[in-house]
Amino acid sequence: MPNNAERTYIMVKPDGVQRGLVGEIIARFEKRGFKLIALKLEHATKEHLEKHYADLKDKPFFPGLIKYMASGPVVAMVWEGLDAVKTGRVMLGATNPLASAPGTIRGDYALAVGRNICHGSDSVESAEKEIALWFPEGVIQHTMASAEWVFE
Ligand code: UDP
Ligand code: MG
Repeated sequence: MPNNAERTYIMVKPDGVQRGLVGEIIARFEKRGFKLIALKLEHATKEHLEKHYADLKDKPFFPGLIKYMASGPVVAMVWEGLDAVKTGRVMLGATNPLASAPGTIRGDYALAVGRNICHGSDSVESAEKEIALWFPEGVIQHTMASAEWVFE
């Protein structure tokens, strides 16, 4: 992959979907210059979500987190571009929205850590695992006409 082709898994959580924030979240990644290479609406099973959040299984908030994430459909996406993992996390804001800067997604649209509307991979390794979990069918490799205006 070229240097600008890092991939991250970004998800609009059930509260983000119910609150009508899907378009807003997609628009931010689009406008920043990232390329959408996979997208679907999915009402995930608890088993699937337990795999997604396997690293957190011993945390006290884990049962509540799985219930919240299984409470409605999520929008699963893969975005590609320069430093997509770290920049994606910066765009989402801190895990606790009260600590998220204004201008970030959580800082603009959320208040509570247990209703923080979006997910983003925390490392390239996690991104690879999450993309394989949510998109076993693979992603769509394509070229954006805008690429040479976004990357040197
Ligand atoms: N979470 C929670 N209570 C906590 C910490 C986390 O409900 O005290 C939830 C929250 O929805 C968070 C998710 O668990 O987004 C995963 O936690 P993680 O530490 O991986 O935060 P993230 O990577 O989403 O910023
Ligand atoms: Mg995390």
